[in-house]
Amino acid sequence: MEEPLSLRVLIPREEIAARVAAMGRQISADYAGKELLLVVVLRGAAVFAADLCRHLTTQTVLDFISVSSYGSATSTSGVVRFLKDLEESVEGRHVLIVEDIVDTGLTLNYLLENLRTRKPASLVSCTLLDKPSRRRVDIQPDYLGFTIDDLFVVGYGLDFDQYYRNLPDICVQR
Ligand code: 5GP
Repeated sequence: MEEPLSLRVLIPREEIAARVAAMGRQISADYAGKELLLVVVLRGAAVFAADLCRHLTTQTVLDFISVSSYGSATSTSGVVRFLKDLEESVEGRHVLIVEDIVDTGLTLNYLLENLRTRKPASLVSCTLLDKPSRRRVDIQPDYLGFTIDDLFVVGYGLDFDQYYRNLPDICVQR
């Protein structure tokens, strides 16, 4: 087992819960009367998606996708490899990609381009966190929880070396 990091809370659980509920209300209103296919990007977005989907009042189907970027672990290369593809067909569906965090934007950009080729009826993205200062491609999430500074965050699904995903708050190193 690794030495635990010394962490402080950046966004407390109550604030996350309130924001996720508001996002859920917004998405429900925007998709009223339509069926939504949530494409949850593993593993980071699993916790966020689990909370978000319980605030959706429209008919919703959940599916999961897992990608990894080639290259070093610290700098995203922009080349993305599928570790797990969707089980659902995207064609003709209203698709919402659920991400944990948009950093350089390369992952989300790749996913949008890839899913667009599968002919969805509509395709938008939703992310809990955004670090716009790090962006390398011109991309804006359609639904956004919080904008943060250039900090490495863990908790509420986000990891460091696969640890800390289970923390209820979003934290940073002290
Ligand atoms: P992008 O392709 O936008 O650079 O990278 C997005 C992915 O990088 C996220 O889905 C997440 O897995 C990882 N990532 C980016 N910033 C952070 C961060 O501050 N904390 C953690 N735990 N992962 C991050």
